[in-house]
Amino acid sequence: MRHTKDGRLVMSDSLMKVYQDCGARFWFNYLENPEELPRIPALEFGTMLHSMFYDFFKRKNPEAKMYESATNYANVFRGRWFGIDNQPKTERGKRKPPILWRNADEKEKLLGSGYKACFDFFQRNANVPFSHILVEHYFIINITNERTGRGYALQGYIDRLELKNSTQPAGLNPEDLGKAIRASRDGTLHVVDYKSGYKPINKAALDVDTQFSCYDLAVELLYSFMPRTFAIEHVRDGSQIPTSRGEGERRVLRERIFKIGRSIEREQFPLASSMYKCNDCSYLRHCRSLQHLAYQKGIFPEDLMRASSPLTRGNRKQRSLFEWKEGEIVAITDEKRLARAERQRLKPVQLSFFSSGEEIEEEEEEALVASGKIIEEIAGEMPSDPLGDQHSSRFLNEDATVLEDAS
Ligand code: SF4
Repeated sequence: MRHTKDGRLVMSDSLMKVYQDCGARFWFNYLENPEELPRIPALEFGTMLHSMFYDFFKRKNPEAKMYESATNYANVFRGRWFGIDNQPKTERGKRKPPILWRNADEKEKLLGSGYKACFDFFQRNANVPFSHILVEHYFIINITNERTGRGYALQGYIDRLELKNSTQPAGLNPEDLGKAIRASRDGTLHVVDYKSGYKPINKAALDVDTQFSCYDLAVELLYSFMPRTFAIEHVRDGSQIPTSRGEGERRVLRERIFKIGRSIEREQFPLASSMYKCNDCSYLRHCRSLQHLAYQKGIFPEDLMRASSPLTRGNRKQRSLFEWKEGEIVAITDEKRLARAERQRLKPVQLSFFSSGEEIEEEEEEALVASGKIIEEIAGEMPSDPLGDQHSSRFLNEDATVLEDAS
């Protein structure tokens, strides 16, 4: 988990989705990090396509041969995909984990799909003026409770932001990237999220997906004077499914950010309510081992999670309580801390029909968020190239448990 310099927890749509799916999975993924998990092919595939599309418009070397034809461009994808099994060192000096192929020809099949997606993308976008588009557009917004001054930051990347129906002149050089969007006072902004998976998108599900509400909130602050439209783009065939967002969704999003942020800060990590959520969980074995230990000790699993990764102002300050190996807890690293957690279970439980001070404060905050007394602002300067040389690491460090993007 990240915090801003002024101590705000940095939230994102994927972080909130993981938390809402299962608090324990959030704890494993963002706090405990028990073991390195193998890379998922579908995620790697989506990540690589995103990086190809980013490179198409970003053009660090505009003279490169890959921009001369759709075939050259698609062949670059082919070369990169061939090397996907490599395990180069990450920024932290560790080797990337191996890929977990589901069957012998999965790599070959994805190669064919990716080659075609890149070839078609090149042709579809060959005449899009650089000035009218922004790609992988980073945003970070501060959302603050007006009365208490407390709040959170929301960050994300918009895959594609395109200016339509504007009188701005079209800039055709890579250095013009996004120029018309920044200068325009007319036209419409079209916000696009790429989807690289096979699964058809359910329109009703798209209409309630919070990712677009996050984009809407960001674009409202960044380019408030322009109307905007939203769509999912299937990168395999270029088709788009439109969706819309408005003030109602933005209000719900603000409430969601405060609710989830507060629960995380209070170290509440509820277990998933259904085994159907557990079936595909990457931490299933780890979770079973943790719960087994909790029941042996007579501790609620959440207390054990808290004891292992206690947060101080939202940051983890102590090493894990557990040594993990192949999904199992093989040793306890700090018996004293475990004993403290065990003593927690002896605490008297006090039930009351009356709200505690903390609960009253929580209710007041909820009412304030609902009434719209929330300050939102862009957090700091927007870097001209937010991804810079590290853009590949943004693509390659996507949340490994969020599978919906590429599945
Ligand atoms: S196995 Fe189930 S309860 Fe455990 S972390 Fe995964 S989803 Fe949550």
